[in-house]
Amino acid sequence: MSALLNAPQREAIRYLDGPCLVLAGAGSGKTRVITHKIAHLINECGLNPGNIAAITFTNKAAKEMQERVAHIMGGRAPTGLTVCTFHALGVRIIRQEAVHCGLKPQFSILDASDTVQIVSDVAGDSDKGIAKQMQWQISSWKNAMITPEEAAQLADNEIASVAARLYKEYERTLRAYQAVDFDDLISLPVRLFDEHPEVRERWQNKLRYLLVDEYQDTNRAQYRLLRLLSGVRGAFTAVGDDDQAIYAWRGADVENLKLLQQDYPKLKVIKLEQNYRSSRRILEAANTVIANNEKLFDKRLWSEHGTGDQIVVTNCRDAEHEAEWVATKIAAHKFEHRTRFKDYAILYRGNHQARIIEQQLRNNRIPYVMSGGQSFFDKAEIRDLIAYLRLLVNEDDDLAFIRAITTPRRGVGPTTLEALGAYAGRRHISLFAAVFEEGLTQHLNAKQLHGVQEFAGFINRLQYRAPREPAAQLLEDLLAAVQYEAWLFEHCDTREAESKWNNVRDFVGWLGRKGEEDGKNLIELTQTIALMSMLDKEDPDFDGVQMATLHASKGLEFPHVFLVGVEEGLLPHQSSIDEDKVEEERRLMYVGITRAQRSLNITWCERRKSGREFRPCEPSRFIAEMGDDIKMNDRKTAAPVSKEEGKARLANLMAMFESREKGG
Ligand code: ATP
Ligand code: MG
Repeated sequence: MSALLNAPQREAIRYLDGPCLVLAGAGSGKTRVITHKIAHLINECGLNPGNIAAITFTNKAAKEMQERVAHIMGGRAPTGLTVCTFHALGVRIIRQEAVHCGLKPQFSILDASDTVQIVSDVAGDSDKGIAKQMQWQISSWKNAMITPEEAAQLADNEIASVAARLYKEYERTLRAYQAVDFDDLISLPVRLFDEHPEVRERWQNKLRYLLVDEYQDTNRAQYRLLRLLSGVRGAFTAVGDDDQAIYAWRGADVENLKLLQQDYPKLKVIKLEQNYRSSRRILEAANTVIANNEKLFDKRLWSEHGTGDQIVVTNCRDAEHEAEWVATKIAAHKFEHRTRFKDYAILYRGNHQARIIEQQLRNNRIPYVMSGGQSFFDKAEIRDLIAYLRLLVNEDDDLAFIRAITTPRRGVGPTTLEALGAYAGRRHISLFAAVFEEGLTQHLNAKQLHGVQEFAGFINRLQYRAPREPAAQLLEDLLAAVQYEAWLFEHCDTREAESKWNNVRDFVGWLGRKGEEDGKNLIELTQTIALMSMLDKEDPDFDGVQMATLHASKGLEFPHVFLVGVEEGLLPHQSSIDEDKVEEERRLMYVGITRAQRSLNITWCERRKSGREFRPCEPSRFIAEMGDDIKMNDRKTAAPVSKEEGKARLANLMAMFESREKGG
């Protein structure tokens, strides 16, 4: 075993007598315990890789963990080993046990906007705000494993009763579409294992050892899944940090940490106290900030690293100035220290902050990668392609049917679809199935009928080819047949159409590579896409500044971190201040600070645009909580720089930079 493990880490890795919880602060090597324990289980204990599952929270984290394991095991990840998110594991279980879940193996997975659409459809109310609220309520029930019937019983006011009724209708619609939502990916396996002990046992024998990263962010349903899978033996290791619990708003429950101790009296708890990530000043600031929170568990963190650079806090005029300042700073720092772009991360509270920064980076030709932002897979043109794929895989997916048949419009208008929908509704069948029913002829005229039948026939022909041909080829043919490119250029201005068509090409290319690499069929590929929250950068060597929300930065580390928009009202967020939930925001700040290895820059804006107006801003209380060992870089006392001058300086710097790169 590698020498780079300390005594408690080694203990956690070797402990196999029962459930094990590693409870420790940021950067103390929790994830390292997981990766090395996987290697230990395989190399020293002779466990088959196929019997091990490591579960993380994001696709990016899963990918990184896979790479780390491969690295330890001499270059290649062992075949059969499962390293994935809770949701991906759920998909696998449901696919293999579809009959027990009342689904076809080719079920569709709906994303957030699909589910809001369904709620608004069943509510008969087009107000998306209300639908979102109701969807949120339904999702909370599902995460807490509360059925529609139980929700109806629990409801103690009119709104809750309405929501419970919607919940029931919503569930019925999902099943009619042969579709599941994200919450189902956890709750269906839980229900399955609860109700079918023989299936549960089969899975327990299959996944003999479980490892869970970021355990503090599991919700009740995920915890139950873990319990059911690991059985009475409790063959698992969970690692987590209560100070980094940042998903309470999505139903995560830090109480799960305590629950573990109650449910497993023999739980072995191991604490790690040495931080290997950050220089001492950064660690100290993180410690002092988080000390303002009520403690759930007592933890200390120390580091052998040097004192490191001082943390710098800069006040900026506004968001534009802030973006410019960060871009200049990164360019200058990189020039001076000959680092790579990917050594820098820009972290922010909300996605809306990203746009101005992106623009500034682009203007200055600074390459960047963004994660956790508006997903590639959320773009309209990509959603179109996904709808085609979903329909090919599962023709009962009415949402996909409607999107596919109307994009591009194929002479099938709203009146036709309404009549088709009414007929299918009465017959309790999908739109696709209704197309070929004799009875439909009485409700549509010849032209309408021809339109829908031609479309359905077209889909049928592609479906027929699906088992034998690569998914990318099918999609390519489909795009050509519906003249998607021409349609884009008709409907958007040229630049927009070009950019959309490029995205389409990227997607088809990606699908082709993915199909080849992983040997996945159309069903598996389509279900994988549903879980994607970003286009995983193909090229791990791509050198770009990392942009991410604080939530998405969890578990990652970067040599130099820029934490932007650290203002009252933004971090902590105004809604959290109003609802007295500042502690969760403080944990978010803690996560942000502890991503930094060597340097940390914090910025805040003196005014920020909200709507059309600027409102004045105050620095976040968390800045004051970081202690005194901080350099306040007050731009007012520094020599004043006009906007133009600032721009010119940056341009100069980039020019210098490029000429140096060219010169080698
Ligand atoms: P987080 O709470 O942010 O997820 P973590 O506890 O999971 O952090 P890791 O990411 O596993 O921490 O480790 C942080 C850094 O410290 C990594 O770069 C890791 O390689 C390094 N590290 C961990 N343990 C050791 C060790 N014993 N010796 C040297 N380096 C270590
Ligand atoms: Mg970690």
